[in-house]
Amino acid sequence: MLEVENIRAGYGDINILWDVSVTFETGKLTTIIGTNGAGKTTLLRAILGLIPLSQGRIALDDQPLDKLSTWDLTEQGISLIPEGRMVFKEMSVEENLQMGAYPRRSRMQVGSNLERVYQRFPKLKERRRQLAGSLSGGEAQMLAMGRGLMSEPQIILIDEPSLGLAPVIVNDIFAILKTLKDEGKTIVLVEQNTHRAVGIADHVYLMQSGKIILSQEADTVDLDALHKLYFAQA
Ligand code: ATP
Repeated sequence: MLEVENIRAGYGDINILWDVSVTFETGKLTTIIGTNGAGKTTLLRAILGLIPLSQGRIALDDQPLDKLSTWDLTEQGISLIPEGRMVFKEMSVEENLQMGAYPRRSRMQVGSNLERVYQRFPKLKERRRQLAGSLSGGEAQMLAMGRGLMSEPQIILIDEPSLGLAPVIVNDIFAILKTLKDEGKTIVLVEQNTHRAVGIADHVYLMQSGKIILSQEADTVDLDALHKLYFAQA
């Protein structure tokens, strides 16, 4: 279980996260939804140790994470899948995937992990020699996901995978998330697409102005009520 307890964090003198507490249960899909600027990406950055905490604690199975480097976290099986635009555009699809296998524990299995990723994303195999910068938005998102899976993570943090993509591609992305969930991965899904996110999640957090304003089991969420809260001004 990954636990975030009462954290504050931000950029320089500007605090963004205000006393945020969230729990990500092992083997469950937890979604964090919220409008632009709510602080969702900042929360992912804090979990990964990319920005320091000024208050609070983050722990994985009761072991504090905030003393570990981002590098150590990938060694512990945590992987961030950023938006699809964050691929290395001047490198080929295959080179991008190989970059995802840098943690020590996955380096020995680059070949077999690559094959597994190609099975999951056959389009990436077809395009493996192509520059990542020439991919469509949907393919780039698949590449970002494939790269994140190259380290065989147990915990996957995924930032807005549906952003800017056509509904038919979003279907494919969510089908892959469902497969990962069924395989028992712990998934933290940051999304603005509330309908899709709630549909696939076990637990839902709503973030607004750097605070968690709702925490609810997904199957009890009333989408209309959620949308009213979602669009309410802080
Ligand atoms: P989005 O969907 O737009 O990414 P978000 O919920 O992920 O929204 P964040 O990216 O976490 O929101 O941004 C939260 C706040 O932090 C915003 O006000 C944003 O301007 C600010 N912010 C984000 N990154 C930085 C940074 N590197 N330096 C300073 N402020 C930042």
